[in-house]
Amino acid sequence: MRRSKAAASLLAFMVLLSGCTMAPPVTEETEETSVEVYDFEGIRAQDDFYGFINAENLLTCDIEDTHGMGGPVSEIDIEISDRLEGIIHEIVNGDRDSYAPGSNEQLIYDYYYQALEASTGGSFASEDDIAYVNDVISGILSVSTIDEYLTMCGDLYTNWGVDPIIGGGVDTDLANSSAGSVLLEPFSSPDGSTLENIGKGGTYAQVLASSIRMVLIDFGVDPEEAEQRSVADASLVLDIAYGTDIELIKALEEDFSESMNRALFRTNDEIDALCPNIGIDGFMKTLGMDGNPKDGVYIWDEGQLATIDSLLTDENLECWKDIAILRFVREVVDYLPDELGGSEVLYENDYYAIRNVEQVLETELGEEYAERYLDEQTVEDVTNMAETIRDEYIVIISDCEWLSDEGKELIIAKLNNMLFFIGADEPHEVDPEDADLIGDTVFDTMHNINIRRYEDKIDKLTDGNERNGFIQMSPQTVNACYMPDINSINITLGIMSAPFYDRNNTYWQNLGGIGTVVGHEISHAFDNTGMLYDMYGNYAPDWIPECDRDAFDEMASHISDYYSGLTILDIHPVDGELTLGENLADISGVQCVLEIAENNEQRQQIFEQYALIWGYTMPKDSALDYLYLDVHSPNVIRVNAVVPLFDCFYEIYGVEEGDGMYVAPSDRVRRW
Ligand SMILES: [Zn+2]
Repeated sequence: MRRSKAAASLLAFMVLLSGCTMAPPVTEETEETSVEVYDFEGIRAQDDFYGFINAENLLTCDIEDTHGMGGPVSEIDIEISDRLEGIIHEIVNGDRDSYAPGSNEQLIYDYYYQALEASTGGSFASEDDIAYVNDVISGILSVSTIDEYLTMCGDLYTNWGVDPIIGGGVDTDLANSSAGSVLLEPFSSPDGSTLENIGKGGTYAQVLASSIRMVLIDFGVDPEEAEQRSVADASLVLDIAYGTDIELIKALEEDFSESMNRALFRTNDEIDALCPNIGIDGFMKTLGMDGNPKDGVYIWDEGQLATIDSLLTDENLECWKDIAILRFVREVVDYLPDELGGSEVLYENDYYAIRNVEQVLETELGEEYAERYLDEQTVEDVTNMAETIRDEYIVIISDCEWLSDEGKELIIAKLNNMLFFIGADEPHEVDPEDADLIGDTVFDTMHNINIRRYEDKIDKLTDGNERNGFIQMSPQTVNACYMPDINSINITLGIMSAPFYDRNNTYWQNLGGIGTVVGHEISHAFDNTGMLYDMYGNYAPDWIPECDRDAFDEMASHISDYYSGLTILDIHPVDGELTLGENLADISGVQCVLEIAENNEQRQQIFEQYALIWGYTMPKDSALDYLYLDVHSPNVIRVNAVVPLFDCFYEIYGVEEGDGMYVAPSDRVRRW
């Protein structure tokens, strides 16, 4: 951005992401924002709009307990976290006998006390559980053919979601979003390292070998034998790394949308031809299934799959067994005693139990949260606002100069077919059998929950997909997203909090808050990822005419260049390519709500609320890390790069050439 001195000194605070599913990072750095130098009253809107709106709040907010994070999003997070804690305490201090079997309250009550007891001197697993773990491992060690091995992998996958050969599993069928399909995910190193690092050899392969060695010794293998085996095991993983398209796998790991765009559909016959050794039936066996009920699967890296197939031979059987053992133990190690590799719990008592309930029973807790905090009026207001925004998009698309008539028609059809999930689902019907999910120990409960997850996946494969965006995000999450395969937006109850939405605000302030979030999410249907999916959520890159796709790319390249020319903390450039989809969404969301407004007084409220919602502090190191990790631009950029693209900003604030916020008219990139 053309930065003024004021903007440049806005160091300590920065960033965080809105948008799609990222947890705030935790870092040890807590560089405080008690910044000496700073005269926030001296910041002019014309030079640094983000600082003008946020500096005072950010410099005075309390960030002591939040790892340096401050600003509206973390304030909402903290408030919701307190509320969740309150709900859990209310339930666990209530009368257990009054809770229906299988109800949210019963599950929360029982699991809370189970986790509490385990973390305060009790144990996470019983003698029986330990015997079970030992049985599983002896079972793996006694496998004597590849076919038995595949069946054993199927057991591990069904019970624990662990597939030692491929990552599994079942997902939306890209070509038919109403169905599920099997997705053979890439092999990853059993110690959690990346294949790229393993392929470098040296330390990484060494660490892998010693992880395997230690686990084998823990479970009774003679140390010398364990040593020899672990070296052979690491070398097998190395062979797989050599047969892998590392660049492809990296691209998939870095960018979730890429992982969908690069998936290849292969028929069962094609998999049999590519993998003559175990074939499609072999892979399905590792998922606990007897053949593939569909006519094909999605894969990513053909070369890797063929390499794995060629390595699944009797000579390598011992190595594969060790890989299975390491994968299984890593899955259950948290519940095992010290001598089997477990470690002490980091936190004890109530804190531990609360966090466990929040994670393991997120959906159940979410329903309890919505029951207490969902306000019908707010949901209605935001839903009406979202409909107004959809209507405005239709006007914008109709007027867009770079789209063909056919392209406009298709985009409008996709807009009209988009579902809005705002607030929270209705509570599910209580099933008394769910009471059995809470087992005798934490270990047992986790086992039951893993089995439940497996069953849900298989249901997706056999019964198809429900078009329900709520299942993607719980109401207590402070976030919003667009789901390309459902063609839906999710606006959680959590994000419908002040300053995003506040019933005491004006309509225009709320439009600048939650309205820009809605506009942002809708735009994802038409960004570099969303443009690959048709109005039903099917992956279909040619759903609109080629001329429109080319025109889109042309428009997007200007926006990418514009952002790549911006920096934070003076010298650190934004990656315009990495952040493209989010930048398109930011610009689009603001453009859309500005066009709903009728005068500059209303637009001013929109601009100021928009800047306010993205106020955020974060330690400097994290801000720099996020530059290459986060698909969102830093928050200061999300505001200061977007608002000067609109002529009314210059009229309202009297911005002139030479001011920090000034962007020459020819550089004001346009989204639509
Ligand atoms: Zn987004």
